[in-house]
Amino acid sequence: MSKYCIGVDLGGTFIKFALLDEDRRASGTFQLPTPAGRGSAGVVEQMVRGARKLMGDHGLRAADVHGVGIGAPGPLDLDNGVVIAMPNVPGMENVPLRNLVSDGLHLPAVLENDANAAAYGEYLCGVGGGRGDMVMLTLGTGVGSGIVLNGRIHHGSHGIGAELGHMIVEPSGEKCGCGQQGCLERYCSATYIARLARRMIEKDGRASSLQSVLDAKGDIDAKDISDACRDGDELAAYVWDNGAYYLALGCVNICRIFDPDEIVLAGGMARAGDELMEPVTRHFRRLHWKLTEPKTRLAIAALGSDAGVVGAAGVAWQKFAQKR
Ligand SMILES: [Zn+2]
Repeated sequence: MSKYCIGVDLGGTFIKFALLDEDRRASGTFQLPTPAGRGSAGVVEQMVRGARKLMGDHGLRAADVHGVGIGAPGPLDLDNGVVIAMPNVPGMENVPLRNLVSDGLHLPAVLENDANAAAYGEYLCGVGGGRGDMVMLTLGTGVGSGIVLNGRIHHGSHGIGAELGHMIVEPSGEKCGCGQQGCLERYCSATYIARLARRMIEKDGRASSLQSVLDAKGDIDAKDISDACRDGDELAAYVWDNGAYYLALGCVNICRIFDPDEIVLAGGMARAGDELMEPVTRHFRRLHWKLTEPKTRLAIAALGSDAGVVGAAGVAWQKFAQKR
């Protein structure tokens, strides 16, 4: 019988669970609410309960499971498997999550940053096809990223090796929360694109069909902009293309550093599909050096919001199963 790895993706609202088999097939995905009011003990209990349910649903005993991979938002102490803090979940300070979950399930466990886990999931079971080098950019509130080199997650020497959203693309540009100026995520995150559209309408008084969205909802999001863009709105087209330009600039820089097989775009904005890929690819080809043809493939993520939990299981697979 094939053995499995369990993935547990801890988020501020939900905890997701999934199984991964030895042929890299994911199954059984479900989620439970994160018990935010019951401190770290409540969170650990819910994680253990969900993993036991997953095993029970599939008739698995501990001997059928290689191990458990846990994805959690940073900051983390990966070496010691400790969650240093979780902004939306009180009581999750300095919690030795890896050992607590491992003890609760009597299975080996490994902790990984959720953005890295998502990239690994996409590498193993999605666009990456489990081969070569892949970089993933997740376009949401900020720009998250994960780097997989030769099948392994790249952590850097100090555990901050995949903060590509904070590469500088405008040296005198907008201030970023990280303390730098002109970070990539200040120019192409979903949040920034929406803010730019709003600024152009409200401060600069530019005409746009987005005005009616703003009047109706009181705000604009990235999807409103891609919708307006499709309907031929000039301001929306400018804002969307501007975001695509900076994203392409980031992709060219990523090529010069890593020369990956794929750069995968994920997150809410990636749901625009071809409407994002077309301008990004166009700018990418224009900005790319001319010494060689671009060989890195730009692609939209395939796994959607399951990438994190599948990747968490994948991290366990790599650590506990692959070497056997
Ligand atoms: Zn920054």
